[in-house]
Amino acid sequence: MIVGIPQTLSFYSYYPLWKTFLEGLGVEVVLSRPTNREILEWGIRDTVTDACIPIKILHGHVIDLKDRVDRLFIPRMVSVDGRATFCPKFLGLPDMVRFSGAKLPPVIDSRVQATRFRSGIIPFFRDIVRQLQVKPKFNWLVSAYQACQQQRNYQQLLLTGLPPLQAMRYLETDPQVRADAAGLAEPAGGNPGSKLKVALLGYPYVLYDPFISSNLYQRLKDMGVDLVTPEQVPPRQMRRLSRVLPQNFFWHYSNRVSWSSLYYLEKPGRVDGVIHVTAFACGPDAMVDKFVELEAKKKKVPFLTLTMDEHTGEGGIQTRLEAFVDMLRTKKEREEKGAG
Ligand code: SF4
Repeated sequence: MIVGIPQTLSFYSYYPLWKTFLEGLGVEVVLSRPTNREILEWGIRDTVTDACIPIKILHGHVIDLKDRVDRLFIPRMVSVDGRATFCPKFLGLPDMVRFSGAKLPPVIDSRVQATRFRSGIIPFFRDIVRQLQVKPKFNWLVSAYQACQQQRNYQQLLLTGLPPLQAMRYLETDPQVRADAAGLAEPAGGNPGSKLKVALLGYPYVLYDPFISSNLYQRLKDMGVDLVTPEQVPPRQMRRLSRVLPQNFFWHYSNRVSWSSLYYLEKPGRVDGVIHVTAFACGPDAMVDKFVELEAKKKKVPFLTLTMDEHTGEGGIQTRLEAFVDMLRTKKEREEKGAG
């Protein structure tokens, strides 16, 4: 049995969980290729025109997998905290894929609807076993336990500042390589020699996909900027900030971005600037972007929005990033001189 997982959307948050559990059942897991121009073109062809860019790309990943797997793994992500739900596109994702018109293998669409992530996820795992109709070698609860452990390790790595793809590679190396890599891993915030620190905010499937984001993360690193992202905000801080606003957003990833902006902006000097990366045609982002912009304005922290769509050119992104980083450097130097 080969199960295909699209390398996008919830992949960036939960792949170690999915993979460890499925492999524990004796299933082979195959990933789609990293996003590229061909995958994007397939996605545009197979999706309704007003879908956001990440959803178009998901459809491209499905096409990339469909002829080499027995099942597609497209879980129905509803909630992981019992309060906010994932955006409506996540809720309908398995149906959207199933009815896209392409001839596809069966879709595993088990529902993630938990009030607490670890304890509430058991019905989800049970449903995967039912849908796969496999006879696991051991009790599937053992695989579920191992999957949750691996997910916890992954989240710890993200907190240290490793971006998701690097953290996943790190988890899969043998213990010796991991010990060596531990010395190389950047501390939270990374790039210790740099003076500028920027909060790079957005949904993980946009921020960390080098193709959709025009390699934004690496470009900023190459400019010598320290980056902090929502993945580096400790969970207890997220919980604290979830009680600050009179009304939170309805959607999981939108809340993570808004709470991260509150966290990075709450103490003066925690960051020198904020970049919010949004996805073209994303409904929630229309509100989240305004929220982050107003918070940054209130705290007098420079703010930049970058909207990614299928036509975003690398040249345009590079120019805007350079201009923003230059402005932050000049401002910081002036403030340091003033203080001296
Ligand atoms: S949150 Fe926005 S970008 Fe993400 S799937 Fe929903 S509409 Fe698309």
